[in-house]
Amino acid sequence: MKKGYSDLSDGKIPKRTQKTFREWNKILDKFDIKEKGHTLAAKHLREKYNLSDWRSQVIAIKYEQMDNKKILICVDRDGTLIYDNKYYLGRTNNWRSKIKILKTVVKGLKKINKKLPEAKIYMITNQSGVAVKEFTLLTKKRAGEVCKAVIRRIKEKGARIDGYILCPHVSPKYAKESKLKFNKRFVCNCTCIKPSPGMVLEALKKEGFRKKDTNIYVIGDRKSDVETAHNISGTGILVPFKNESDEDMKLMRHKKNKSYRDKTYIAEDFLDASDFLFRREKQIC
Ligand SMILES: [Mg+2]
Ligand SMILES: [Zn+2]
Repeated sequence: MKKGYSDLSDGKIPKRTQKTFREWNKILDKFDIKEKGHTLAAKHLREKYNLSDWRSQVIAIKYEQMDNKKILICVDRDGTLIYDNKYYLGRTNNWRSKIKILKTVVKGLKKINKKLPEAKIYMITNQSGVAVKEFTLLTKKRAGEVCKAVIRRIKEKGARIDGYILCPHVSPKYAKESKLKFNKRFVCNCTCIKPSPGMVLEALKKEGFRKKDTNIYVIGDRKSDVETAHNISGTGILVPFKNESDEDMKLMRHKKNKSYRDKTYIAEDFLDASDFLFRREKQIC
């Protein structure tokens, strides 16, 4: 075997150069490898970073192999990040005191932040309470404040969420079947009601990521969260909420079909979900 060939196969490059391939990719992005091509990119690595000819070539080739995928992680709010008290958080003025971050959430997020620092994390949440007529205090603005407060609370504990997307709508079908009365302007068939992937698309847009260049994950406590991921060729991770009936979980465990299982993971808790995500990304790279 040609000398140094093992560098490509067994991952010695990150160890010997003190940088992961993703970090090298970032450097090559900055250099504009897509425009300048990999011969010039290798030359750049050789000259600026003092790498051997061989390693420079390997890193430039690996860039193309990895296709330099971005990572987008969308996380549901109620029942996943915070306790779901079925309360339509924000419909009363004392909502701040009712925010309760769920166990292992901060730990899991910190782990993602540290191990996959380039991954963007968005909270995506359907807040149908905004559409309910009698909840006069729960405006779209208020619902947004709740989201911001959750993100801030998590930040105070040392973890990062990059933003949130909120959908205040209910479908005409839901409105018809519910006992509650709704404001007409929030009743529509929008593409953001999970499992439709509208909010994931919006997060992609906010980050300037293209769907085909991005590994998408959705973490949530419902089957509809998992299916939101599937509907945009992503991976769905179910973190069952303890107070919820486990119907969804049973349903998913019994799916026999391999392709469904490959894009679905049922986690013990949020930390387990982030460990899975990290393992999956490591396999890919
Ligand atoms: Mg939920
Ligand atoms: Zn919507």
